[in-house]
Amino acid sequence: MNVKSNIYPTKALQEADAAHHLHPFTEHRTLNAEGSRIITHAEGVWLTDSEGKRILDGMAGLWCTQIGHGRHEVAEAVYKQMQELEYYNLFFKTSHPPAVALAEKLAELTPPQFNHVFFAGSGSEANDTVFRMVRYYWDLMGRPEKKTIIGRWNGYHGSTLAGTSLGGMKGMHGQGDLPVPGVHHIAQPYWFGEGGDMDEDAFGLWAANELARAIDELGEDKVAAFIAEPIQGAGGVIIPPDTYWPAVKKILDERDILFVADEVITGFGRTGEWFGSTYYGIEPDLMPIAKGLSSGYLPIGGVMVADKVADVVINKGGEFYHGYTYSGHPACCAAALANLAILEEEKIVERVKNDIGPYLQKRWKALGEHPLVGDARMVGMMGALELVPVKGDRTKTFANEGSVGTMARDYSFENGLVMRAVRDSLILSPPLVLSHEEADELARIAEKTLDDTYAALKREGRVG
Ligand SMILES: *Cc1c(COP(=O)(O)O)cnc(C)c1O
Repeated sequence: MNVKSNIYPTKALQEADAAHHLHPFTEHRTLNAEGSRIITHAEGVWLTDSEGKRILDGMAGLWCTQIGHGRHEVAEAVYKQMQELEYYNLFFKTSHPPAVALAEKLAELTPPQFNHVFFAGSGSEANDTVFRMVRYYWDLMGRPEKKTIIGRWNGYHGSTLAGTSLGGMKGMHGQGDLPVPGVHHIAQPYWFGEGGDMDEDAFGLWAANELARAIDELGEDKVAAFIAEPIQGAGGVIIPPDTYWPAVKKILDERDILFVADEVITGFGRTGEWFGSTYYGIEPDLMPIAKGLSSGYLPIGGVMVADKVADVVINKGGEFYHGYTYSGHPACCAAALANLAILEEEKIVERVKNDIGPYLQKRWKALGEHPLVGDARMVGMMGALELVPVKGDRTKTFANEGSVGTMARDYSFENGLVMRAVRDSLILSPPLVLSHEEADELARIAEKTLDDTYAALKREGRVG
């Protein structure tokens, strides 16, 4: 396909896409029948498609574009790096300046226990590293029987074998006989959907105690680690009850297992702190990062390794037979460094905490008044709206789960705002550079989307 101008041949692109492209997480029969939406430009929080339609990017790409789209500083930093050293590996006693600079910067920005990073190409790869490093650590500690990793149902840790296994998405497990052996899943702290008769605080304590119960049942001497997202993202922006993380922290303090906080979404300002771990006051030993690390400008991920683990790997270990050709790729490191410089210089994280975060939260929570919304929640700039058939009754759900979420998602797109559907909820995670005016526009489109969805459901007799 030879695209030479700004006038994009939408139909030809869609046909070639359908003919040759297998998409990630996509049901292709529907996509190919409808034709994919072709995104051709982006600037700030706005996307433009091949028909020239402008759409507000309420998902920051895929939870990653913290600094917004189209920042020339990042492009220029990458261009400059490519001209100097486009690629070299970090195996066999070599290093290069951008990897060194990024490692040093990450040690500075992350919580104090972290002074080392292992680079990967993505969040999934980072969690493959986690899987292997956790077991390697216990081998080096002379406790090779500590192998089992505990994850949570409906957690998301990526889409490779390790990522899928550590995650708790049953649909993903069903494709290919996963998880791999040695992974155990416990309940998620999803009060709105699974809280039953308990109030939020009681449910948070119950869900935390499921971790203690699992460790005791499996045997502390067999358990290597617990992995969790501070706030579940892909699972539906599940913000745990206030009681959850303090109780989990206490359980972990009393037991000798590693704690992995998957900060691929919650890192780099999404919660209004640099890391979700800081927001919740939890102290992970390993911290996978990706997405906002480079704002998605180039693919890069990594695992932050706390001193407790790094000391063992460095001083007790020999060679760890693990690494990726593109670990710490120079151009990707340059993109990450330019992104972090923008986050720092423009005080974007502070802005999420003190300014645009609270502003957007107020708008978002006001949507909770809508008759279709059972819960409107948001921390920092990640939020969800639970769509329900009977307002005020958490136990009632729509028949054909997911159909209402998808309908609302499609209306939202049509109305000019990207939101994502998870089950029958709408989720939002816009670029952190959103302006007040753009937040107003976002809320206006979200409200219209709820109105459109509600009217359609009324016509179908699916709501009161
Ligand atoms: C997106 C995500 C991943 C996987 O990252 P990829 O870059 O898509 O491989 C892992 N963990 C969490 C929490 C994520 O949201």
